[in-house]
Amino acid sequence: MDELGVDALLLSLGADLPWLTGYTAMPLERLTMLVLPADGDATLVVPRLEAPRVEARPDSFAVLPWDEADDPVALVGSLVGGRRSLAISDRAWATFLLALQAELPGATWSLASAVTAPLRAVKDADEVEALRRAAQAADRVAAQLLAGEIPLVGRTEAEVSADLGRRLVAEGHQRVNFAIVGSGPNSASPHHEPGARVIGAGEAVVCDFGGTYDGYCSDITRTVFTGPGEPPREFVEVYATVQSAQSDGVAAAAGGTACQDVDRAARDRIAGAGYGDYFIHRTGHGIGMEEHEDPYLVNGNTTPLQPGHSFSVEPGVYLPGRFGVRIEDIVVVGPDGGPDPLNRADHGLAVVDA
Ligand code: ZN
Ligand code: ZN
Ligand code: ZN
Repeated sequence: MDELGVDALLLSLGADLPWLTGYTAMPLERLTMLVLPADGDATLVVPRLEAPRVEARPDSFAVLPWDEADDPVALVGSLVGGRRSLAISDRAWATFLLALQAELPGATWSLASAVTAPLRAVKDADEVEALRRAAQAADRVAAQLLAGEIPLVGRTEAEVSADLGRRLVAEGHQRVNFAIVGSGPNSASPHHEPGARVIGAGEAVVCDFGGTYDGYCSDITRTVFTGPGEPPREFVEVYATVQSAQSDGVAAAAGGTACQDVDRAARDRIAGAGYGDYFIHRTGHGIGMEEHEDPYLVNGNTTPLQPGHSFSVEPGVYLPGRFGVRIEDIVVVGPDGGPDPLNRADHGLAVVDA
């Protein structure tokens, strides 16, 4: 905060608050906000009825509950006092930011992520182990998919999505964050919303799912082909290309490498096979308490990777109206600077009779 000239952090919704305090604000119309001055004690302003949810940590912050008829914005304003340079949670509601701006007309505003994102991006050993447990739980579901234990043919995408979610919970996740199932032509839409389409035989099925496990996120993608019979030659070729691109990306993800060069490694492989126009997203995103956070593996991001950075490596090829393939693992840069893939579920082409 001193380096950036920030006088106080104002943390509300989003992962910054739980990352610092262990408490997650409820996403409701009553304001929860930690006022964390650079030069003073931190105070968590919280609705009275939600104060029992807060695990008190008097060594770190005071708790200031507000009653239904109080004005929480004025409370925050009084805690801010004369401080001018304020950094607010990226995910804070506009409702509260506009009210705070009216309350504190002399303040200048910036995003809290300028302070927190570089810190949160570098995981300590406990955080890496939490990510590893989450990845291993997701791997167990992926293994069930690859082994043909999850029925596909004859079910709708939505049914398979719900099944994947139940299995994530059965393997220890507290919450399911998403379970994309894109079948046949829908597999060419990277963020397809699983719907009423019934999965048929002889189709590509992209399954991309993850949840939250002890506060940290999992995120894995595997693409399978529904049998019986062998997939068409072009599918086999695209699959092999994506598999190579994914392992090239992982191999490139060492400490000191610029984020954009991991993207480049995966992209060059796909372009070299003639599918460059069909890899329509970045290679990966950081992951931690949020599914998507810094660092982003995208052209233009020259940030060098360092030990503790954790992120996805998830190249894909999407042929509109036909099929898509994506393979995704979470990778952390280990203490020695080498890439440590947390997901170990098999990467080879699986033809599942399910
Ligand atoms: Zn995605
Ligand atoms: Zn994913
Ligand atoms: Zn991802």
